[in-house]
Amino acid sequence: MYCPKCRTQYVENVKECSDCKIPLVDELPEETPLERIKWVALTPLAGEIYAEMVEEVLQNENIPHFTKSDWATSAFNISSANLVGAKVTIFVPEENRDEAAEIIEELLGKR
Ligand SMILES: [Zn+2]
Repeated sequence: MYCPKCRTQYVENVKECSDCKIPLVDELPEETPLERIKWVALTPLAGEIYAEMVEEVLQNENIPHFTKSDWATSAFNISSANLVGAKVTIFVPEENRDEAAEIIEELLGKR
């Protein structure tokens, strides 16, 4: 038996957590950190070259991320850097958004 709140394990005849005063459960729900991440989109970047620069820095900073290219460029497999107005959007976890936004500003020299 486990407490769903503090995750303490109890012996079988205990029905309530002594700390949290809530009913125990047979099994704890699986921890799925990745699925709990709330992804947010950063300002779209004008081209893959910028996206690759940003990705490299995010990698170095250990910030999880993924990119999504403009549908048209990925559909035709054309490097978006060659297309005017092509956009690459980078997604990061909400908790890393400010950090990532700062990195991008620094990298691209926006002030
Ligand atoms: Zn508890």
